[in-house]
Amino acid sequence: MGAGTGAGAGGIDELLRDRLLIMVNDRSANEVLPHVPARTGGLVVTGADAPVRCRAIRNAYPETVVVMDHESHTRRTATADAPFGLKTAYGWRDLDLAGLVEILDGQRANRASYAVTPTCFVPAEEAGGAPVLGAVIGQANRLHREDTVVLLPCSWRWLRRSSVPLLAERIRACRHPVALIMQADGDPLERGQAVEGLRRLCRSCPRLVLWRTDLAAFDAMAHGALGAAVGVSAVLRHGVQPRPENGGGGHKPYPVVLVRRLLRYHRVATLQDWFAHVDPWTCDCAVCKGAALTRFTDLDADVAAALQHSVCELYALHEELDATLAGDERLGWWRQQLADAWEHHRLLAARTGTEVPFPKVLQAWRRESPTALPGAAGEQRGQERSGPS
Ligand SMILES: [Zn+2]
Repeated sequence: MGAGTGAGAGGIDELLRDRLLIMVNDRSANEVLPHVPARTGGLVVTGADAPVRCRAIRNAYPETVVVMDHESHTRRTATADAPFGLKTAYGWRDLDLAGLVEILDGQRANRASYAVTPTCFVPAEEAGGAPVLGAVIGQANRLHREDTVVLLPCSWRWLRRSSVPLLAERIRACRHPVALIMQADGDPLERGQAVEGLRRLCRSCPRLVLWRTDLAAFDAMAHGALGAAVGVSAVLRHGVQPRPENGGGGHKPYPVVLVRRLLRYHRVATLQDWFAHVDPWTCDCAVCKGAALTRFTDLDADVAAALQHSVCELYALHEELDATLAGDERLGWWRQQLADAWEHHRLLAARTGTEVPFPKVLQAWRRESPTALPGAAGEQRGQERSGPS
C-alpha cells in the first residue's frame, strides 16, 4: 500500500524493528522533524491536526516514517463491548468493526506509514480489565490487513507478577504487532514489580513495541522489544488516567532536557542549581554545538531548542543501540550505559558538592534481568512464521 516508507513489501515488522519514533503533538512536529533520521527514526503525531500534519510531512518527506495516535485512551476507558472509539468534531463515537476499519483506512489515506488502532484505556485485571483486554485483541484479530499496529494502553498493574502472564498470552495471540502504553500517575516503572514485568514481557513477546515512553524504550529494546516511541514532553512519556477533556499532549511551559550522561530528563532549573558554582556541562549535539545545558530559558525558542536537543541526544544513544546485535551484545551495551550513568551521578555530586540522587528506575534497571515467561520461546518461533512477508 502506498508509495515511500509504508507497510507493504517488507512487512510491518521490518518497519518497526529497532526503530525509535518520537511522539510529538501536531504543533511541535515541524520543530522536531529536521532532527529525526529517516532510516532509524520517525514520528508519532498526536492532536486534532495529526492527520493534516501527517499527510503534509509524508508528502514532503516520503522516506520518513510517520504515524498518528488518536489518544482515545486518554479520554475513555474501554469496555468489552466498545474497546475502540474516537473523539470527533460531533462528540464521542464508539467504533464497531466497520467503524474501526474506516478509521484505520483514514489514517492510511492521510499517508500514515501504518495504521494504529484507536484503543481506549484497559483497566487493571482486578478492575475488570481481563475481558476488555480479550475484546481488544479479539476484535483486532478480525481485521484482515497487514498494515496495522494494535495500541494497548494498560494500567501499570498489568505488569505485576500476578497479571503479566495473561497480558503476555493475549499479546502473543494478536495477529498484529502490539504497541504497549503503561499508564500511571507519574512514572509507571517506579511502581512495584513494573520493571521486572515489562522486561519479562519484552522477552516473551517478539512483536511488542513500547509506546508513549521515555528511556524505558532502551531497556525494552535491550530486552527484545521490536521498537519504541518516546514522547517529547512529560505528558507523552507515559499513559494518563482517561478523562473526556484530555487531549493535545500539551506543552510544559518550562524547559526540560535529556541529560544523556545521566540517562535522565531534568528540568533546566535543576541543572542550574547543580551548576550554580562550577562550570556547567556542555553538549556537542547539532543543536547545542558545545554550549551549556543550563542555557535554556522558558522563552518559546528555548523550549523548542531544548526539545530539539533532547531528540538529537535520543538518536545519538539510539545509534549506538542500533549498532549492536540484538540479544546479549545489546544487553551488554545497555548495562554499560547504566554503569556509566551511575558513575556520572557520583562524579557530578562530588564536583558540585550537591546531592544528586541515583534515580529509582535506573537502580531497578541495574538489577539482574528476569527470564522469559514459560512457553515464550515456542510461541516466538510460531509468531515469526506467521508474520507478514
Ligand atoms: Zn545538545
